[in-house]
Amino acid sequence: MIRKTGGCLCGAVKFEAEMEDLSFGACHCGMCRRWVGGPFLAKEAETVTVTDGADELNAYRSSDWAERVSCASCGSALWYHLLEPEMFAVSVGALDDASDMTLTAEIFIDHKPAGYALAGDHKRMTEAEFMAAFAPPPATE
Ligand SMILES: [Zn+2]
Ligand SMILES: [Zn+2]
Repeated sequence: MIRKTGGCLCGAVKFEAEMEDLSFGACHCGMCRRWVGGPFLAKEAETVTVTDGADELNAYRSSDWAERVSCASCGSALWYHLLEPEMFAVSVGALDDASDMTLTAEIFIDHKPAGYALAGDHKRMTEAEFMAAFAPPPATE
């Protein structure tokens, strides 16, 4: 298991995440884009351990099955938390060092605004393709 550390913009929250490998994905769904201001670059994590600033965390229940956790002070998006079965999708942007990580999949590609695109030869799934592969429950709303 690979361990990576991360934190928020103001430095109040620090965390450590355990992940299987160094791949990550991008979600273009409308909720993610509103949450982070663009595609949500996210890495599935087995565990997330808050090492500092637990009292600064804000968990916004964005759907019946998930919450989106950010820093209450600076607003940094930290991780998406699927409640059942429990899964975390940590913001790649919140990690201290993501220089060794590689984008391997985009989801909700049919929701991406046409004005930009992520380069590279990797998997691209529409909402319908993603839902067929992973639902239930829907993991990104
Ligand atoms: Zn903060
Ligand atoms: Zn999304």
